[in-house]
Amino acid sequence: MSTGFRVGIGYDVHRLEEGLPLLLAGVQIPSDLGARARTDGDVVLHALIDALLGAAALGDIGGMFPETDDRFLGADSSGLLEQALGRVRGAGFAPVNVDVNVIAETPRLRPHYATMRDRLSALLGLPLDRVSVKARSAEGMGEVGEKRAIQAQVVVLLEEEAGRA
Ligand code: MG
Repeated sequence: MSTGFRVGIGYDVHRLEEGLPLLLAGVQIPSDLGARARTDGDVVLHALIDALLGAAALGDIGGMFPETDDRFLGADSSGLLEQALGRVRGAGFAPVNVDVNVIAETPRLRPHYATMRDRLSALLGLPLDRVSVKARSAEGMGEVGEKRAIQAQVVVLLEEEAGRA
């Protein structure tokens, strides 16, 4: 029986540049523009890691995977998520559901919602009906609207596992 819930919020932003890969939720999305980053630049997984760590009050992605640490150069963010999730589970929490917003002018992401939800479901060990992915444009405004950046927002709910936390 659950004894309590914790909610966490995460946000990430990366520059977009031509000729780089675009990974979102661990899925490679066909795109002329990709994320400039020290890791694979997956804004969804980075925001998700921050939301998970935040919900469990375990700090943030920069504390767990310092930008100064070259081990994380080009890192697969799915592996970083697994480590963060392991820490969250170790503290006695399990994910209940996750809701993802991507803000991007391009590419159109609706055709990729199902693949992204599948991947997040597998990474988090959650059924599909507890994993939501949505996207919207910035209506041409600001750095996102001008296709110079991509953003993600994630909210996650954790529950305390019985007899643990
Ligand atoms: Mg990031």
